[in-house]
Amino acid sequence: MAIYLDHNATTPLDERVLEAMHPFLTESYGNPSSVHGFGRHVRRAIDNAREQLAALVNAHPSQIIFTSGGTEANNMVFAGLAQRQPPGRVLISAIEHPSVLRGTQHMDSQKWQIETVPVDQAGRVETDILAGMMDGQTRLVSIMAANNETGALQNVEALAARCREHNVLFHCDAVQALGKIKVDFAASQAHLMSLSSHKIYGPQGCGALVVDKSVDMAPLMYGGGQERARRAGTENVAAIVGFGRAAEIVASELEVNRQQLTSLRRLLEQRLQTIEGVVLFATQAERLPNTVMFAVEGVAGETMLMALDEVGFALSSGAACESTHGEPSHVLTAMGVPYELAQASIRISLGRGNTAQDIESVVVALKQQVLMMRSVARY
Ligand code: PLP
Repeated sequence: MAIYLDHNATTPLDERVLEAMHPFLTESYGNPSSVHGFGRHVRRAIDNAREQLAALVNAHPSQIIFTSGGTEANNMVFAGLAQRQPPGRVLISAIEHPSVLRGTQHMDSQKWQIETVPVDQAGRVETDILAGMMDGQTRLVSIMAANNETGALQNVEALAARCREHNVLFHCDAVQALGKIKVDFAASQAHLMSLSSHKIYGPQGCGALVVDKSVDMAPLMYGGGQERARRAGTENVAAIVGFGRAAEIVASELEVNRQQLTSLRRLLEQRLQTIEGVVLFATQAERLPNTVMFAVEGVAGETMLMALDEVGFALSSGAACESTHGEPSHVLTAMGVPYELAQASIRISLGRGNTAQDIESVVVALKQQVLMMRSVARY
């Protein structure tokens, strides 16, 4: 059985989540917009899921818009604002997920200016640099809570506070932070926050955008009046129920999981450092408890991934959706990591099911592969 070490790409569905979803894939098949009993039953289930998710992120249930995932939530922010606000500047950090980086691209053609906020060597946005970039034309700032590749955390509250001082909307992609560290929409002072279900042991294809009521934005989808007319389309009931249940579970287990993952990550880092030529990234930043990004000098990341896959370990070279491009990570590049080293990058993202034994095994396998690749390279 292969060992799964790629939880930032996706997490396995929790059995308890599947159990909660099951009736909505079988006997409870009403359309939530129907007024009859079948409809009312599933409507109540959606309302319950909305409350469960709102409780996890300290938001009001009315602030939650269910979407098809984090990608849609991110895209909705930019498309929705571009339609309602006069053109201006949007500032996004250099290390955002492609659904933010590419999600803003179409705004260019609508006379919006998209500008990149740099990060330091540990992958953090400095509040003073962000503040210095804002002017009267700046309408929106988008900065993620936790980076999917390095796990580096941003000081969301400080960044949002600076945006509020400048009367600028602040969007936070909290997809990777959710379920791993405390995410508090109200305390963060963000206006908009993107979330995704499949990173917290819920089903894929479901997410949410949390929206402060002061934000005027157009929908991405037009049609029926679902989600208070902010996201048309018959709801993905079973997935929403699953997302709600997953939120409830991670809320109750957050601290235990955080501590367990933090100690596993520490062990992993100690063990990795016994490999000659290992470089760990973003270590000066506060990071997610489960994520380690590193490189072994002179060993191509993709080659290593394939070799480890062959011997039963699933890990990644960065963002799952980017690993086919062959280009080094834009996140490491923005942090000033040299091309060669960035190309050697490997990400291990731990999850609930991992054990100290998994860590020992993957480090042993890594050492063997490094030895083999280096001895081949000598001939
Ligand atoms: N934002 C971040 C930081 C992510 O890591 C991901 C997924 O990898 C997304 C957004 C996209 O979420 P989804 O897969 O639900 O579309």
